[in-house]
Amino acid sequence: MEIRPVSVGSVVIGDGEPVLIAGPCSIEDESMFRAVAEAALESGVSILRGGAFKPRTSPYSFQGLGSEGLDLIDAIRMEYGLPVVSEVMSIEQIEHAIDRVDMLQVGARSMHNFPLLSALGRTEIPILLKRGFMATIEEWLMAAEYIVKEGNDRVVLCERGIRTFETWTRNTLDISAVPLARMLGGYPVIVDPSHAAGRRDLIDPLTRASLAAGADGIMIEVHPDPDKALSDGGQSLSLEELKVFSEGLFGTGSS
Ligand code: PEP
Ligand code: MN
Repeated sequence: MEIRPVSVGSVVIGDGEPVLIAGPCSIEDESMFRAVAEAALESGVSILRGGAFKPRTSPYSFQGLGSEGLDLIDAIRMEYGLPVVSEVMSIEQIEHAIDRVDMLQVGARSMHNFPLLSALGRTEIPILLKRGFMATIEEWLMAAEYIVKEGNDRVVLCERGIRTFETWTRNTLDISAVPLARMLGGYPVIVDPSHAAGRRDLIDPLTRASLAAGADGIMIEVHPDPDKALSDGGQSLSLEELKVFSEGLFGTGSS
């Protein structure tokens, strides 16, 4: 099937040129998000990511800055001219986020939330639909259909690893899903090696494998001080590592 490219601001996902999406798992405060945005711009990142509403496993973990995080996204995207993707977990969060972000993410835990998918289908904003960690490729494509059926065909899929018996990685990157979802769904597919592996030392090799398999882009987590991150520090690159990574794999960056 022909891939239907999706525009996010001035960036096109699915036109044959892999895009790099990077940013913190959670936006923790203005200064850290600003530092990431600056490094992202210098490293040739095309879309910034940053969580405001966080689907944490434990209700006692940092839950994100919520609406305040969306205000920071709005300010930073204007200042740096970078489009931003951020997650919504409920229908009511859509209206808070829709004017302050450029792309809405549906997280792995929400892939089966059909009312949320349908509500996103009634908007015109690009959607990044992550694969549920227990979802088959068919279930994932059907989740995308819930969005498209309501009229919004601006859907990009994100393979972020599935749950298997393996414990040395957080999830198992399903590399077959990249060509299959592209061929069978016609959606651009990006890969998130940070959540797939759960460890930063696998981001580089999994990115190479994903690009070789035809991925339309890569989304990774970065943090100015990963060891102090409030979420997912172990799978985040530092800002210096981001520069090396993007130069090596995307041939971008200013230094
Ligand atoms: C995230 O992108 O930070 C996230 C929570 O991802 P996933 O839904 O894939 O676990
Ligand atoms: Mn994360």
